[in-house]
Amino acid sequence: MRRTRIVATLGPASDSDQVITDLIAAGVDVFRLSFAHGDIESGIARLRRVRALAPDLAIMVDIPGPKIRAGSFGTAPVLLETGTSVEMVEGFGESSTSERIVVERDDVLHLLHTGDHVHIGDGGVSLEITRTGAATRAVVAAGGSVMGKPGLSLPSSIMNDRLPTAEDRARLEALRDESFEILAVSFVRSAFDIVSTRTVLAREDVMVMAKIETAEGVQNLDEIIAVADSIMVARGDLGVRLPIEEVPHLQKDIVRHGIRYARPVVVATQMLESMTHAQVPTRAEVTDVANAVLDGASAVMLSAETAIGDDPVTTVLTMDRIVRRAEASFDYPKWGGGLGVQQIVGVGTQATRITGAITGAAWRAAMEEHAVAIVACTRSGMTARAISRFRPPMPIVAITPSEATARQLHVSWGVQETYLSPATDIDELCDFAVAQMKISGTAKPGDAVVVMAGSASGGAQITDTVRMIVVS
Ligand code: PGA
Ligand code: MN
Repeated sequence: MRRTRIVATLGPASDSDQVITDLIAAGVDVFRLSFAHGDIESGIARLRRVRALAPDLAIMVDIPGPKIRAGSFGTAPVLLETGTSVEMVEGFGESSTSERIVVERDDVLHLLHTGDHVHIGDGGVSLEITRTGAATRAVVAAGGSVMGKPGLSLPSSIMNDRLPTAEDRARLEALRDESFEILAVSFVRSAFDIVSTRTVLAREDVMVMAKIETAEGVQNLDEIIAVADSIMVARGDLGVRLPIEEVPHLQKDIVRHGIRYARPVVVATQMLESMTHAQVPTRAEVTDVANAVLDGASAVMLSAETAIGDDPVTTVLTMDRIVRRAEASFDYPKWGGGLGVQQIVGVGTQATRITGAITGAAWRAAMEEHAVAIVACTRSGMTARAISRFRPPMPIVAITPSEATARQLHVSWGVQETYLSPATDIDELCDFAVAQMKISGTAKPGDAVVVMAGSASGGAQITDTVRMIVVS
């Protein structure tokens, strides 16, 4: 049993039905589809294909926000040598070379100043602008190899479009009637970005994930988490926009925030990067994945490794092994006990306060009686996410009337089993939960099981009940 979830990004290396099926068998919980590349129509065609192959998993649609890309350098690495001069032009569908870098926008070059730095991709390659105006030029300040269509990081004053961008609006409209569970929003800088994106999306069944990858996003973390459903530590862009030595500490801080707000947190980017081309990861990468688990991440993510890598399936199997081993060293009782204040921070409503108190009571009861499972009867998934904060050593079982919620819970730590039931009566839900767990083998006669359920209380549906059931 693995508790931490695995997110795999799909791309050319994992586009076939066979590879997708093999990735599911290897343990993927969430597929990420990036809408940064290619046109909307082919993105949607792929989404539908993945949905058909993965009817029970969660699908994350990732919208790029104001990410600016370079025109393609092609499939072989192109060397940009330190000290050489390059021309910069705006254009779409044109190729970049080592002498001429195409910026896929038509409105940004004139905003650059002499001395500005432009980072290319995540690999430390950067340019310094030497001439502005019609014939913009730059010198390669830090050289290196680039390929494909790397992202360009311009000074943040230039990339200050409000979210969603016009392109993302078009994507959201095209996605309006499609089946997916999570919308990952890139370059979130404020709560407003999340609220406005959610308004355009207009889908209650989709969880919004704020990608924390800018200095402003870090600065406004609390207000962003308060309005987002989940968050991603997007280390790729984070490491470009903030001093790279901040990344491990930001990771720990963002994960802790996510836990306090009962939000799933995904740790992303370069986790097993060398496996894009190698069969075995570096020791540093293995240690990084294990440390993300120990930091308390809900999920760990693969990007290029599964999107354009040589062997996506082996990469997932490797990540699975590293995560399982790390979990064997995870101190579950200490984590749950150390959570301290059980109140869920952020949304200070009475319903969330009660959910916090009830999940705290459920966790203690389950620990003291060595329950074999904690069952969360949940419509929105909130109760399951709230108990997941405690990282209980026993499986979390979710019972929900909503298929979307069941699939969404694949990004939540430790929610091992989900069952659909329209019941609202607590006795009926308990009977159903016990019957299902007897079938799955999670519970047998004599075992103790803790069940959390809700009822209409003070005019709202609130998780207000903890029961300890001895299975008969
Ligand atoms: P990206 O986001 O892969 O869409 O850029 C993740 C990151 O920046 O780490
Ligand atoms: Mn990013």
